[in-house]
Parts: sequence; structure tokens; C-alpha cells
Amino acid sequence: MSVVNVVDDGAGGSLVHVVTADPAARACPGCGVFATRLKDYRTTRPRHLPCGGRPVAVHWRKARWYCAETRCERGSFTEQIPQVTAGMRTTITLRRAAGAAVVDGGRTIVQTGRDLGLSWPVVHRCFISFAATALPAEPEATEAVGIDETRRGKPVWKQNPDTGKWELLADAWHIGFVDAIGGRGLFGQVEGRNAACVAAWLTLQPEHWKQHVKYVAIDLCATFRAAVRTALPDAVVVVDCFHIVQLAQRCCQLGLRVV
Ligand SMILES: [Zn+2]
Repeated sequence: MSVVNVVDDGAGGSLVHVVTADPAARACPGCGVFATRLKDYRTTRPRHLPCGGRPVAVHWRKARWYCAETRCERGSFTEQIPQVTAGMRTTITLRRAAGAAVVDGGRTIVQTGRDLGLSWPVVHRCFISFAATALPAEPEATEAVGIDETRRGKPVWKQNPDTGKWELLADAWHIGFVDAIGGRGLFGQVEGRNAACVAAWLTLQPEHWKQHVKYVAIDLCATFRAAVRTALPDAVVVVDCFHIVQLAQRCCQLGLRVV
């Protein structure tokens, strides 16, 4: 794009008028032939990053063209460029910045949304696409996988006005799959806390990765053990030391009380 002019919007921000500067934007998305007959102009306002601490409102005057190719079913089309494809209401620069703020900057999705004026679902999508570029397509091979669950936030209860009983509204748990031996960190994280969630993630992994796993470390959880037995029948299930010590400690305390 080319900047035509920049004006003060009177509210501490800048209004930037731009036009398309990429000749390829005139290529019909249906057939690829460059259009020569202008239909009209449209102005779109894709969201963009602030500049120099000031909010920036981009007003992009786009041309609409008739496709002259007789065999093309596309009658007309609006210009688009790779940075802002058709239907996109944000620039790729803004989406990358949102993804980087979460992945590299360690910011929450909520805070990034506040900083950049984006909604939670938009920042979440930016985070997923940014992370996908950095993550390997499949987990690196390891001989030992660790599986454990983590509670996300506090459980939410609500009292039923008819019965007077307290009912659980939300109780989010995540299951993490980590490299238990090679220091490669987190392989994956899924929502839930039951055997089906564990089995589903393990089953999705490539066959050669699963064959490489010789040991699976879990806590004393029969549900996880059943899932591992199903998805990785050849792996040895081991219980990590913490849980053994914890169990021994409990037994000793119980014994002392009995004595
Ligand atoms: Zn065409």
C-alpha cells in the first residue's frame, strides 16, 4: 500500500489514508488475468498496530475491477494484497504482533486483546497461527513421556433455586504431555481429565513416535494407566518418585496415628 496522507483524528490518534500499490492486486482471484476495466472504489478500515504510541486508523481506498476474461465465472472482484486478504479486518502485521505478544512476550490473551484493541477469539486465533510456525509438525522422539493433569482456575458452583443443591458449572482441567527424560519440554496439552482425552492425544501421534516411547510416567491414576495401556501397549508404566514418597508419607502418618 502507499500512504496518500496522514491526518490527526482529533482524539490522539492518526488517520492514515492509503491506496493499493501492488500491481498484482489487479489479478482476478478466479482466473489470474489482470483486470483493466474499473468498476468503482470501496473504502475498508483494516485494524492496524499503533504507531509511536498513537492509535492508527487505516482507511484503504480499494478499487473494484471487472474481470474481462470470458471463460472466468468471476464478474468482478475487489483488490487484495497478501498483507490484508479479502474479508480480513486486521492487517497481518497486527495479527503477528498479537501472536508474538502471547508466545514470545508471555502476555495473556486477555491483556493482548486490551493492548491491541482486539477481541479474545481474534487474539486466540493469532496465538495459534503464530505458535504453529514455531512448533515442530510432530513431537520429537523420546523414550519417556510424562502425563499429568492441571486444574485451570477455580471450580465454579451455582445453587439450583429449585432443589437448593449446589451444582458444578465449570471445572476446567488440562492434561499435559511432556518429555520426561530428554528435556524437550511440553509436547502437547489437551482439555479434560479422563482416559479418553489421554488416549485421543496419544493415538493422534505418528506411529514411529509411539514406537519410540518405552516408558510413561504418571501419578497413581488408574484412569491414565488404562488409557496408556490402550494407546501404547508396549510401554512400561512407571510412577514418578514424588507420588511414591507421598503415598509412603501418608501410610507412615496413618501408622503413627494408629500407634
Ligand atoms: Zn477472472
